[in-house]
Amino acid sequence: MRVGIVGGGQLGRMLGQAALPLGMRTTFLEPAPDPCAAAVGEVIRAGYEDPEGLDRLAASADVVTYEFENVPVASIERLAERVPVFPPVAALRVAQDRLLEKRAFAEHGVGTAPFAAVSSVEDLLAAIEVIGLPAILKTRRMGYDGKGQLFLADPEQAGPAFQVLGGVPCILEQVVPFDRELSVLAVRGRDGTFATWPLVENRHAGGILRWSYCPADVMPETQARAAAIARSVAEGLGYVGVLAIELFEIGGTLLANEMAPRVHNSGHWSIEGAETSQFENHLRAVAGLPLGTTAVPLPVACVNLLGRLPPLTDLLALPGTRVHLYGKEPRPGRKLGHVTVRGSSDEEVRARLDRVRRLVEA
Ligand code: AMP
Repeated sequence: MRVGIVGGGQLGRMLGQAALPLGMRTTFLEPAPDPCAAAVGEVIRAGYEDPEGLDRLAASADVVTYEFENVPVASIERLAERVPVFPPVAALRVAQDRLLEKRAFAEHGVGTAPFAAVSSVEDLLAAIEVIGLPAILKTRRMGYDGKGQLFLADPEQAGPAFQVLGGVPCILEQVVPFDRELSVLAVRGRDGTFATWPLVENRHAGGILRWSYCPADVMPETQARAAAIARSVAEGLGYVGVLAIELFEIGGTLLANEMAPRVHNSGHWSIEGAETSQFENHLRAVAGLPLGTTAVPLPVACVNLLGRLPPLTDLLALPGTRVHLYGKEPRPGRKLGHVTVRGSSDEEVRARLDRVRRLVEA
């Protein structure tokens, strides 16, 4: 089986690593020089919209997938005329636009923070009247890791904020006083088989994921509700592959924030922590193979290595850690790797997580 992947970043690299034991060959379409996925597969060095590059990718693959959600829809449509592409373009279109995404959640009976569409400063002032403040103004497209969004506390900030974000279509979202941020990772096969991993607790700072813990300490009803949310969204979109939905937990209820039509940073712990990792199950799903069990036998955590790398010897000296370096040059805020933290009990994993965080955040 030959798998084509649009994008050659760390998610592509980890997909490529998972592909090897399954005897799959990966080819990446990536314009950047020396992408980190080059270590695990062939790279077609061309832009994501380059027709020749896209056609070469299609010709090199039995199935194509993508590792980031800002792939141009037209590129995926071109690929899909030549080779099966999963997740389906309908899911990509929704995930690229915060307004369509929020509407899709509502359509599938999933609650979100109150929101309103904004195309002008007048719209924004009207939205503030309805939504109230504080609120967050987010660009509809191309936002990630907290980029393309501004916190508003005063109506006087409306005009400048809209300009700072480029005057592009946005949504205004009420700030919800969540207790915790969670994510549900799900996988759906080509035959409609569906599974979720246990809920993950996530901690962000500055809009960027810092660490994750699985299983999140939630009531069984919360776990069941998250699985039902993921199932209704995945089935509604005719989804195939791994789907991540970021959730806010407020007093035991769940609101959906956003979804990623791909493997997700909050599932990296699954490489060592789950019976089948998100990367392997994504490949199995898009290739039409049986899905693997998503059981998580013991608690597990994951800490992102952002911007700078602590000495490898220090990381490896900590008990219960597995280090993943992506082979990227350090730059402020850049995701350079992650550390999986394992142990035999909740207490042990939490204590080890604290030690890794002290080293990483020093
Ligand atoms: P996003 O790009 O939508 O994932 O937002 C990045 C981070 O900003 C989230 O992980 C939250 O920590 C925070 N955030 C986003 N939307 C809201 C909201 N409506 N209320 C409170 N915090 C939010």
